[in-house]
Amino acid sequence: MRRLESKSLVLLHHHLKALRLPTFGTECEAFAARAAHDNADHLTYLLHLSEAELLERERKAAERRLKAARFPVLKSLESFDFAARPSVNRVLVAELARGAFIDARENVLLVGNPGTGKTHLAIGLAAAACSKGYRVRFYRVTELVTLLIEARDERALLGLKGRLAKLDLLVLDEFGYVPASKVGAELLFDVVSTAYERTSLMVTTNLPFDHWTEVLGSERLTGATLDRLTHRCQIIETKGESYRLKDAKVFQNLATSRKKDVDERAAEEEFNLRKPTDDDYVALGELRQQEAVAATRHLGLRPQDVHFLGFPDGGLAELWRAHWLRTQPYTSPYTREESPPYPGAVNPDADYDGMDLTSVIARVLEDFRPTVVVIPHPYDRHPDHVHTTYFVTEAVQHLRGRGVLSPTLTVLTYLVHFPSWPAKRGPLFDRFLPIAGLPDSAWVETELTPEELTAKRAALEEYRSQLEVMNGFLRSFLCRNEIFATLDANVLSRIASIH
Ligand code: ADP
Ligand code: MG
Repeated sequence: MRRLESKSLVLLHHHLKALRLPTFGTECEAFAARAAHDNADHLTYLLHLSEAELLERERKAAERRLKAARFPVLKSLESFDFAARPSVNRVLVAELARGAFIDARENVLLVGNPGTGKTHLAIGLAAAACSKGYRVRFYRVTELVTLLIEARDERALLGLKGRLAKLDLLVLDEFGYVPASKVGAELLFDVVSTAYERTSLMVTTNLPFDHWTEVLGSERLTGATLDRLTHRCQIIETKGESYRLKDAKVFQNLATSRKKDVDERAAEEEFNLRKPTDDDYVALGELRQQEAVAATRHLGLRPQDVHFLGFPDGGLAELWRAHWLRTQPYTSPYTREESPPYPGAVNPDADYDGMDLTSVIARVLEDFRPTVVVIPHPYDRHPDHVHTTYFVTEAVQHLRGRGVLSPTLTVLTYLVHFPSWPAKRGPLFDRFLPIAGLPDSAWVETELTPEELTAKRAALEEYRSQLEVMNGFLRSFLCRNEIFATLDANVLSRIASIH
């Protein structure tokens, strides 16, 4: 057979490009060689080549849909351990994975405690839908509510709702974390009712139905939302213990071993059942979040008013020092994550870099507009504490510059790690005394009422994972008073001028 001249080959590639047949372009020569070898006729050659083009096109489209769905992580149904979660009906999940519920505009509700695999199943099912050609978008509910409110303020609500209306499946993860603002609840309800019988919804929640009023605020709205959601709906209950925390032994050991020195830890690991995995570390973070929510509840805060940024333990100094720019996020040596892996993080899309951390902090401050900010003392000996203060100061300075925060904003600092602090003088519940040897600080004091002290003690008791590691140290903070330092203004402005 006569071969195509190389000049004509160039022309062929040009035509294929103009016709938008990229796989023809990359494969035509290899396929031609194979056809010659197999003695295949021209039509068979063309058939194989066009099949390859089609397959590649479908693969790319599925990839695009998967990307457009914006899953926080990719999880598959294959990696779901059904044996560990007997309440989940495997047959039902397999049936849902075929996607017929989407054609029928039915909803799926996944209900269960934290860590029981709701998000995993939701992502697995939604990813299966993507590969079947459905248009899917995943949102954490807090994220969607924020977007809706922003869009409304910027008069872009119609556009956002238009984009939502184009979806086949809308995943709403973590219904329990919805802020109780009336506007937010109404906008969310609007999304649910617009989707009704047009777009399938997949909702995960750890809230039993009788708690939904707390989230949505009004009986009427709750009733109407539940009505729309559960009409033509499959419910999957993930009953039982958290999947990640089920190996309590490894877990406890992990909490302890984080604080031990390296030799001891190595020795311990040698005798241990298994080394902590990245997932164990994420689980520890999640547990500490849950403990913090329980603790702050004793102090009168509602869970929806507690925000977690989800930045890496032991990594803040590195973010400040060598991972400031977005080009090079920091990887946590523990969780192996480059961005917050925790449910309900303020911005799960932020990366572990200084700029992103500063902007996440600024966002929280801008939303709340505080008149008092309480941060660690910048001369604390713990790098995470110190750098928390650096980042907050940076964000505050920026917002002051924009006139969002007042120049008279009060900044108070507290001390945790410092030599011979808290000074254990007298009985446990005595007073804190101002710390000698800490320059640039003026101390202010507030006396706790007996009820406040009781609440503080109850809050402290919630930090079980921490009490195991540093019981005595934590309890030494149970004093009758609290002391805070105000800093010389020069110190803070110096900090903010570094970057
Ligand atoms: P939830 O959304 O219910 O809080 P997740 O789906 O986030 O829980 O699960 C927590 C972690 O445990 C995830 O990493 C998830 O992949 C894993 N996981 C949970 N259940 C299972 C399971 N049955 N099989 C495999 N991994 C699971
Ligand atoms: Mg979840």
